[in-house]
Amino acid sequence: MPSTTPLTQDDLTRWRACPRRHWLQRRVAPSESAPPAPCALINGFDPHFTDHAPTDQTLRATFPEAVCMAPPRDEEGWAKAIADTRACLAQGWLAGARQDDGRAILGACLESNEGVRVQIDVLAAGEHGLRLFKVRHATVGTDADVDLVALWTHVAARCGLRVQSAGLMLIDTDFVYPGLGCYAGLYREVELMPVLGSRPVAQWLVGVRASERGPEPPVAESDVCQAPCPFLNHCGIPSRRVEREQATSLNIVGRELAATLREHAHINVMSVALDELPDQRRRRAVRAVQQGRCIVEPEAGALLRALPYPRYTLRMDTIGFAQPIWAGTRPYQIMPFQWTCDAQAAPAQLQQHAFLATEQGDPRRAFAQSLIDVLGGSGPIFAYNAGFERNRIKELALAFDDLAGALHALDTRIVDLFQLARAHAYHPDMCGSWSFHSFVRAFAPQSNADRFEWRGITEAQEAFALSLQGSLSRDALDSLRQALLAYGQRQTEALRLIVQGFEAGAGA
Ligand code: SF4
Repeated sequence: MPSTTPLTQDDLTRWRACPRRHWLQRRVAPSESAPPAPCALINGFDPHFTDHAPTDQTLRATFPEAVCMAPPRDEEGWAKAIADTRACLAQGWLAGARQDDGRAILGACLESNEGVRVQIDVLAAGEHGLRLFKVRHATVGTDADVDLVALWTHVAARCGLRVQSAGLMLIDTDFVYPGLGCYAGLYREVELMPVLGSRPVAQWLVGVRASERGPEPPVAESDVCQAPCPFLNHCGIPSRRVEREQATSLNIVGRELAATLREHAHINVMSVALDELPDQRRRRAVRAVQQGRCIVEPEAGALLRALPYPRYTLRMDTIGFAQPIWAGTRPYQIMPFQWTCDAQAAPAQLQQHAFLATEQGDPRRAFAQSLIDVLGGSGPIFAYNAGFERNRIKELALAFDDLAGALHALDTRIVDLFQLARAHAYHPDMCGSWSFHSFVRAFAPQSNADRFEWRGITEAQEAFALSLQGSLSRDALDSLRQALLAYGQRQTEALRLIVQGFEAGAGA
């Protein structure tokens, strides 16, 4: 591979993460590589807004006079974007501007004389030169962000541009969205110029080129081997991960204790004597693994059988938008958008209820009111890891004075199945994880409650965000909403089946 092939910022990012990944990308299987960043405007993007106009809308609120370069997808695209950026700069369009003019080039493309191409999220006018920003939909930056800003600054300098400041534009969590598309103030600027000197970019670029010419680097030893690296199979990583997460792993008793057990020459829990463990919970887990069966202590069934009817099984889903979409809300504010509930007036009487927000504005009041209506005035409400549901109920009570009494009354009826299971049960298939998904996968595998899928989207939050964008046909929107409702119902059904199983003295 000739070393004259242009380098991009993605090459440097890959090389910094793992030299082998860059080498494989260039030398072995370029077709396996991840697609290019969707748009340099939204590097560090919130996946909810990929290909979504509001990202552009938010930047335009800060830079109302901005021009935007189309993200290059191929050689021709790069050539055009670089030429357009040069033309803009040559006309002095930024040089003559004041900082508050709101002039900027969004997605400015530059190529240095060392053959390095970059697309800079924001190149804006400053009092004494250009201001350069990486936009990140997050509250803090990462080391990789600093590396990238250092590279952009290096390339801009090699292109003869005078850069006054370089930094990040991060989400300001104090911002309250006033509505009507007014996003001015969503971002806060973080200056990075003082720390860029610690990034030896020129040295890195020499390293990247040398790596391309050298032999195949060895497989990385650390935790860098994870998605989105497209070479996990090529490097044999999945099998190594499975080994680490198997049911007999010492980690199921906690990492600290596992380290001590390793010092005592154990390689997994199969050789661990129960009296080496400090409490009932860990003894139960190890006993379950050693005996190859799930354990549900009789106390769990006794506690559940003592509870009256009507009974309710509840799951909630929430979303936190980096860029708030409902007036009066803040970035990352936890917004409940869906609840599902299995209501049982008696053991054999089941009714399924659900609420799923539409695109018609802030859903919280309708969410709260419908929840109160369905849950009525008495009966236990089963939830898993119920601190989550309790906190949402408290937030709703704070937001709506007139509903606060009814909401607080729900709080006192919640029975946390997580606490109950942790005190009295363990399934080897949990592999030490007490997450909702691990729990239902182990105790109610037939329910499929740990999986959401709609046309390739595997996150319910992402699907819900898509449902708000107005870009789907009526049929597609109906199908997506049905998928979300069915997913919620699978979750409540799984919890209900587990309760029944525990009452009967076994897993569901
Ligand atoms: S799987 Fe690991 S070793 Fe292989 S290229 Fe990716 S990061 Fe590097």
